[in-house]
Amino acid sequence: MPLPSTKDIVTLIEKGDITGAKEQILALREAALELQGENAELKEKVRQLEEQLAVKGSLNFEKGVYYLQEGRKKTGPYCQRCYDKDSKLVRLQDDGDHWFCYGCSHGYPKKPYSPPV
Ligand SMILES: [Zn+2]
Repeated sequence: MPLPSTKDIVTLIEKGDITGAKEQILALREAALELQGENAELKEKVRQLEEQLAVKGSLNFEKGVYYLQEGRKKTGPYCQRCYDKDSKLVRLQDDGDHWFCYGCSHGYPKKPYSPPV
């Protein structure tokens, strides 16, 4: 149903159709509330995407794992698998000669990473 215009509402009032005008005003109010909700959802989505972009921009891939550079502070390592698959930063746990991920139970050897030839 198209949104009632103020002109339509004014016409209804001029014709003395107060009930009709009230209905149109309520329809407008409902539509405004719906848009407000939708707007809040979209704002949240934009915030999340901006956050993801910022993270992506400061993420470094080193020896098979990720490190996050925040100004001068470097944190990590983070799981490559969890980030690439689900965009989740899961901190790896020190497990002797391996880094271990509690997110996906994947282990990363600490030895220098050599990409496949
Ligand atoms: Zn993981």
